[in-house]
Amino acid sequence: MKLLLATNNAHKAQEIRAILADRFSEIVTMREAGIDFEVEEDGATFRENALKKAVETLAYVGDRFDAVLADDSGLCVDALDGAPGVYSARFSGEGHNDAANNAKLIRLLQNVPDELRSARFCCCIALARRGLDPIVVQGEVEGTILHEARGENGFGYDPYFFYAPFGKSFAELSSEEKNAVSHRKRALTLLSEALHV
Ligand code: IMP
Repeated sequence: MKLLLATNNAHKAQEIRAILADRFSEIVTMREAGIDFEVEEDGATFRENALKKAVETLAYVGDRFDAVLADDSGLCVDALDGAPGVYSARFSGEGHNDAANNAKLIRLLQNVPDELRSARFCCCIALARRGLDPIVVQGEVEGTILHEARGENGFGYDPYFFYAPFGKSFAELSSEEKNAVSHRKRALTLLSEALHV
């Protein structure tokens, strides 16, 4: 069973391989497979985006692969009615980057008290399979949004995402600590379980 990962993110690929290695004989990224194919992420939900990316990529690669895995993830803040959500990467608009996205987030939450700063990271993973129905799973991790950045590790919104069970922001965790509890890890575990039944 050959699996194509609809990502070029080496870090994600490593996490996925660690969990799904026993289910596929080969797991390769788009770059490793020499495939250059982009799917527009224009869905209203993580699920729509992940499923679209997986299904369209599988249709594009034809019978070179048995399955394609795609994910979509982001931060959902309750006080912002779930924003930035599917817009997490491009929250600050043109020229977006992590610093600008975080600055916008903190500005929008500046008058929101601690008890109303609940949020979660969500990761939806879709596995499109040739001749079989797709599998879609979603993993989440709950936290609260800090007023000030803490920590240097990770990426994206990690410095502002406080994870109470460890008493630290995600950017204060080692990658091993974060990977053990992350939304992506939870989604991958659900996918692995779904493949074992
Ligand atoms: P993507 O699904 O990898 O494209 O991620 C979308 C965006 O969500 C990223 O650009 C980040 O802004 C945010 N995001 C997703 N996962 C994380 C995470 O683990 N930490 C911090 N930000 C994240």
